[in-house]
This record gives sequence, structure tokens and C-alpha cells, in this order.
Amino acid sequence: MFKLNENYLKLPGSYLFSTIGKKVNAYSAAHPDKKVIRLGIGDVTQPLAPVIVEAMHKAVDEMGKAETFHGYAPELGYEFLRNAIAENDYKARGCSITADEIFISDGAKCDSSNIQEIFSLDNRIAVCDPVYPVYVDSNVMAGRTGTYNKEQETWSDVIYMPCTADNDFTPELPEEVPDLIYLCFPNNPTGSAITKARLQEWVDYANKVGAVILYDAAYEAYISEADVPHSIYECEGARTCAIELRSFSKNAGFTGVRLGFTVIPKELKCGETMLHSLWARRHGTKYNGAPYIVQRAGEAVYSQEGREQLKEQVAYYMKNASYIYNGLKEAGYTVSGGVNAPYIWLKTPKGMSGWEFFDYLLEQANVVGTPGSGFGPNGEGYFRLTAFGTYENTVEAVNRIKALRM
Ligand SMILES: *Cc1c(COP(=O)(O)O)cnc(C)c1O
Repeated sequence: MFKLNENYLKLPGSYLFSTIGKKVNAYSAAHPDKKVIRLGIGDVTQPLAPVIVEAMHKAVDEMGKAETFHGYAPELGYEFLRNAIAENDYKARGCSITADEIFISDGAKCDSSNIQEIFSLDNRIAVCDPVYPVYVDSNVMAGRTGTYNKEQETWSDVIYMPCTADNDFTPELPEEVPDLIYLCFPNNPTGSAITKARLQEWVDYANKVGAVILYDAAYEAYISEADVPHSIYECEGARTCAIELRSFSKNAGFTGVRLGFTVIPKELKCGETMLHSLWARRHGTKYNGAPYIVQRAGEAVYSQEGREQLKEQVAYYMKNASYIYNGLKEAGYTVSGGVNAPYIWLKTPKGMSGWEFFDYLLEQANVVGTPGSGFGPNGEGYFRLTAFGTYENTVEAVNRIKALRM
């Protein structure tokens, strides 16, 4: 008789977005005349930029002719894309990352959850609290997190690094020494960023204690401030301690197209073994790569036209972000984020819990956001709004919230 991977049964169940969906559906059914505006989900809404659509059409035509047909992609991804990434994302920023250290994939969610399997099960992970849930849950599935404490909503073998107003929503170096450190900046859900000087402290720390930093830079394109690094490899010494995860989802609207990449410098070693070799082995065995058509679309992101069109797309969302940020501030809310990230993190008013404020906002303003507690215990008392809606809806939502006069 077969048995299950019991680790899956330990997962507390992610009720966050299903609960939100149920509440919104129930409200809409009871009030069909109300227009509900959703600023809850972390998905983009703008269509693909013209230059990307063009590149995809061209690639589709190539696939339809024997002379230009492409079968399986090379294991690490096509050279044209890896070269464009190495040149534009790294060399242009002074980072020494070469094309053969870049692994093309179908997104950063899979990479950030799969990467843990090249590490020993007795490695200790450290995560921010609040956090993008994928990092923790993928380690739960692997059996690396110990037992779950229902009251505290924490795992016994995970090191939690609180990100609160007191530390500007960037973690302090942990007291207990971790083996794997998950960092995501600019951050989902808090919208906070980390300065190069602060990130350098993390790189120095990881090199000192022999830890690996798994650096999720999915929101790199939203950075507007000069002292915020776009890549962890801008820090000295990162080549011996950091893996970087990137995605085309948020900078180019590829959430439905699917494309991302992971960088593993060849100097990142455990004894004599390069982590690069292990990840290459994993790619070769378990993965057949992102589609040719999509990799061509990714290449177009780096063209002159692509960069211009996408700059506009990011600016569109960031205009929403500043509208939300300024509007809520004027209304007396305590807000952060929204400057280097498309997320606004606000303190719930009058000591309301995240869910109380969720219900209040849904019923009084017909606006949907996300309770911070869904991302970890330190998210309680906070609320996330996203800038990924249309400008018109964003303006209307903010004006409705302002009219509430909390
Ligand atoms: C959206 C997001 C990603 C991107 O995931 P994809 O699988 O590439 O779409 C990665 N990390 C974080 C924290 C995100 O919010």
C-alpha cells in the first residue's frame, strides 16, 4: 500500500486568498449593485508591450518552418537570452556575472521553491516575517521545518526574522546562525527596500558563517532610489555566498507567459563542490526549459524599444503606487512601501486586526486588499494594497478610502 509524503499533511493550508475570494464573492452576491475594486492580488493587469508581442509572433512563425524550427532548448537556456541578461542586468551594473552562470526557467516561484532541494535536509532556514509564503511551504514539503505551532503560526526549525516598523521592514542579522537565508528586496508584501550598505552586511555575515543567501529580486525593475541595489552581486563577496532569483513577471507582465532565471556563481561552493554543478544536474534531469517563443519574448525585453516600453509600464504602476501612498497618508494612515515596489503596506487604523480592516474596507468602501497576517505573525495589524490595478480603479479606490474619514 502506498504512503503519502506526510510532510504535505503538515501544511496548515493557505486560506488567505481562498478566504478573500469567498468573502468578496459573498459580498458581491448580496450587493450586486456595488462595484468592488480589487487591490489585493499580486498580478499585473497591463497587456504585453508591443515589442514583446512582435517577438513572439516572429518566433511562432519560425516554429512553423522546417528551416527555423526549434525543438528542445539548450539545458541552461538559449545563449541569446543569457547573453542579453548578463550584459544588461549584470555587466551594465558592474556585476561580474557571466552568461554560463545564468539558468533560464519558467519563473521565480518554481525556482525559489525548487532550489532548496540541492541542500541538505538538516540545513536551517531563516526567513523574514512577514514573508512570501513559497519559501517556507516548499521547505515544509521537503521536511526541513520541524513541527508547527498553531497559536504562534511558526515552525520549530525555522528562524524567523521580524520585519517591523522599528527596523524599516528589513531584518536584523539573526541571533541563531542559519544555513540558508531567504531575502526578497524590494519586498513582497511590505514594499520595503534594502540599501546597498545594509545588504553588504548580509553578504559579509553569510560569508563569515558559511551560509547561502537566496536573494529574490523579482521587483528589481521598480527600484527608484539610487542607494538601493538591483542585484545582490553589486555587493562585494556575493559571488561566494549568494544565489539570485529573477522573474519577467513583474517587470514585463509575464505572469501568464512564464519566464525567469536563477544565477549561481561558480565560486559558490560547499567544499570543492560548486552549487552550479548541482543545479545544472537538476535542470538536466528534471526540467526541459522555457519555450523558445517565450525566450525570444524575453530577449525583446532587453532591446532598446523593449526597455522604453517597459519603463512606461512600470511607471504606470508606480503612478498608482504613489497615488495610494499619498492618498492614504493624507487620510491619516501610517504607510510605507510604494517607492521601490508596487506594494503599499499600511498600519490598520484604530488597532483593528488585518481581517477586521479587510471586512471594514470591503463593506464600507468596496475595496479589497490583503490582511498582513496572511504573510506571517508580524504582519498582523498591517494591510497590503497593490499598485497593479488600472489607474482609474486605483484613484476611485483611494478616494473611497479617503471618504471614510477613519
Ligand atoms: C511575483 C513574485 C515572484 C515571481 O514569480 P514568477 O513565478 O516568476 O511569476 C517571485 N517572488 C516574489 C516574492 C513574487 O512576489
